[in-house]
Amino acid sequence: MARASDELVFAPLGGVGEIGMNLAIYGFGEEHRRQWIAVDFGVAFSDDALPGVDLILPDISYLVEQRRNILGLVLTHAHEDHFGAVIDLWPRLKIPIYATPFTAALLQAKRESEPGAPEIPVNIVPLGGRFTLGPFDIELVSMAHSIPESNGLIIRTPLGAVLHTGDWKIDPTPVIGPPTDEAKLRALGDEGCLALIGDSTNAVREGRSPSETDVAKCLAELIRTAPARVAVTTFASNVARLRVVAEAAAACDREVVLVGRAMERISQVARETGYLDGIRDFRSVEVYGHKVLALCTGSQGEPRAALSRIAQDDHPEVAFSRGDRVIFSSRAIPGNEKAVMRVINGLVSQGIEVITDRTHLVHVSGHPRMDELRDMIGWVRPQILLPVHGEPLHMAEHAALARRAGVGQVVQCRDGELLRLAPGGPRKIDEIPAGRLYKDGSLLVRADERTVADRRRLGFAGVVSIALAISDRGELIGDPQVTLTGIPEADALGHRIEDIAYDAAMGAFGSMPRQRRRDPEAVGEAVRRAIRAALSATWNKKPTCHVHVLEV
Ligand SMILES: [Zn+2]
Ligand SMILES: [Zn+2]
Repeated sequence: MARASDELVFAPLGGVGEIGMNLAIYGFGEEHRRQWIAVDFGVAFSDDALPGVDLILPDISYLVEQRRNILGLVLTHAHEDHFGAVIDLWPRLKIPIYATPFTAALLQAKRESEPGAPEIPVNIVPLGGRFTLGPFDIELVSMAHSIPESNGLIIRTPLGAVLHTGDWKIDPTPVIGPPTDEAKLRALGDEGCLALIGDSTNAVREGRSPSETDVAKCLAELIRTAPARVAVTTFASNVARLRVVAEAAAACDREVVLVGRAMERISQVARETGYLDGIRDFRSVEVYGHKVLALCTGSQGEPRAALSRIAQDDHPEVAFSRGDRVIFSSRAIPGNEKAVMRVINGLVSQGIEVITDRTHLVHVSGHPRMDELRDMIGWVRPQILLPVHGEPLHMAEHAALARRAGVGQVVQCRDGELLRLAPGGPRKIDEIPAGRLYKDGSLLVRADERTVADRRRLGFAGVVSIALAISDRGELIGDPQVTLTGIPEADALGHRIEDIAYDAAMGAFGSMPRQRRRDPEAVGEAVRRAIRAALSATWNKKPTCHVHVLEV
């Protein structure tokens, strides 16, 4: 039973207004005594705008502060945008984790592949399972998606039930795993659903997504008719796709060779969890030859992944040649388009035939289009709908669709907004700290630190360093040393930029009154300004300038 002062609240800490980095929290209780559960701990991928950054993670400082009141973290599925931050962030919280067998096994495999990763205990929940965390009664709902075991969560509380959809689509023939559990969702609708927190990724697309089985037919035909070697690249975690490709290869007597570590890791986990039962063992890359099918990582154009290296003719074991066929059974995640085009162009210029989803049904998304979103609303009939998992456009379209479908209260929110779902109508009641962390080498740095901004500036205009020594009488000792990094060697007239910087420094120093020359700080500032002004005049860019003044 709820007390009069109890509230059910929700806050996204990532994934709302952006692609990736999904993390949501639900709280129950009185304002200063709330108990929390977290759903998903995802990463987002970096791009050229963040030089040197591998991954983006949600800032969990609020959760660290609240960690004694967090009852658990539930992982909906094993995509990186939902569980990719667990290994880096869990040690700050050490809260119990709940996941289904495939997700747990993949987390374990990932941990084993990262040297120094912490031991992370996971409570395994069966598909469709139900368990209780304090005031939260949590039931899993199987959803079709592009990875095995995607789960929606029905979160029942004394103030009502919430459906957190996770990632889903409607696919009556998903190749592996059960289809989306319509009966359970309709039953939730009958019981009464307070709020639906739902996937907006494909809310701008009309109609329904094709089935994984339609993709299977198309792939089988393309593999059967391939004149020479054939390679398929896809997300390694799309086990249904691996299965479909393996079956098509077997049907025309091709051996399947795995190229890329993620392929090996995930196929191993898929075998352990039964998702590749009946599929002939994959071969390792040593047997790579003419009559094979290569399943490669690198569908997103990742420069170090197998396909990218093959496209640059830089893979130690695998090469393609004129007449081979490469199938992209994938679509570029927003931000990766250029990298993917680079790989495609690399292959095409070697005379390799490249097939993508532009011309053939070789890929379907794992997210619901408009008709599927309408079906879900019809089954669950929520009082409140909150679009999540998308950029602002996707969420606005999802919201508009929900209003047209008759949902009474449609709320659009942002990362870090705390919303009360009950009692009373939905209302924003607070802001909590939310933001981003960057994975920079082996460290996590806050996005608001200067590190990456500095790196971007250095990338744009380089750096000038100058070291000069002065005596206590304000005289220059020895010759100042100038070093340029990332700056052109000469100006348009052929004058060395190093000399221009040197002359500017000497001029600035020479024109200072003797008294001022004894103050290293004043010298440093005058020299810095002079060099920046001189380089700006000759180059039209202002580099970073470091002046080291030594008092001798
Ligand atoms: Zn997903
Ligand atoms: Zn997702």
